[in-house]
Amino acid sequence: MNIDYAIAVGGGTVIDIAKYSSFMSNIPFISVPTVASHDGIASSRASLLGSNKKHSFEAHSPIAVIGDVETIAKAPKRFSISGSADLLSNLTAVMDWKLSNRITGEHISQYAVALSEMTAKTVIEKADIIEKDRVEGTYIVLKGLITSSMAMCIAGSSRPASGAEHMISHMIDENTNSSALHGEQCGLASIITMYLHGGDWLLIKQTLDKLNAPLSFEKLGISKDEFMKCIINAQDIRKDRFSILSGGISEKAAENALSITELE
Ligand SMILES: [Zn+2]
Repeated sequence: MNIDYAIAVGGGTVIDIAKYSSFMSNIPFISVPTVASHDGIASSRASLLGSNKKHSFEAHSPIAVIGDVETIAKAPKRFSISGSADLLSNLTAVMDWKLSNRITGEHISQYAVALSEMTAKTVIEKADIIEKDRVEGTYIVLKGLITSSMAMCIAGSSRPASGAEHMISHMIDENTNSSALHGEQCGLASIITMYLHGGDWLLIKQTLDKLNAPLSFEKLGISKDEFMKCIINAQDIRKDRFSILSGGISEKAAENALSITELE
């Protein structure tokens, strides 16, 4: 077959399949997202469903992203709110990266850190607009998702946008029947990881509340016990990625974190 390039028009699954297959076929790929639900729309990793489990594969970034804001704004609001929560979780991903830099000496890119943190701070500042104004809000989220993808490209890995909170989310994907979107899970999980870092977890919780993002386990479609187990076992997802959970967390400490942050 003589194919010059691949174009993916759609949501995360469509984009990830085209991203991975074009990478394997060594042809360029153009991303045309129709929802702004997570920062995979322009990143170089593809998250694909294997036998029951989702796995992250090496792929390549698109040569272009064409996002029509008015079209994306017509998608259910839940998608762009999930995208915002995914961006918000960049704060704890970066904290894990900085911690690893201090403890293990892992290389850190200050440019990638600055870009990643900027996207989360924009969500905090503009949460009201994102929640209320469909077109303007979608524009803000889409720009943030592309910027976050760029941070990952600069870093050469998902490090600037994926820490322990993402491991908790992947644990939820693998071990529960959660009906939640990726960003919704990462947002909620980042309240806990921010608390464990000793940071301003209340700001994350208040921002998620402003965005009308899910703030209870019931809304994620999982039980408190399941969430607890996902926190305790999260680091098993990627033992090589140092995070605030690398030293392990006891059941008592996990329970304490949920109680202090008033998550139920
Ligand atoms: Zn994410």
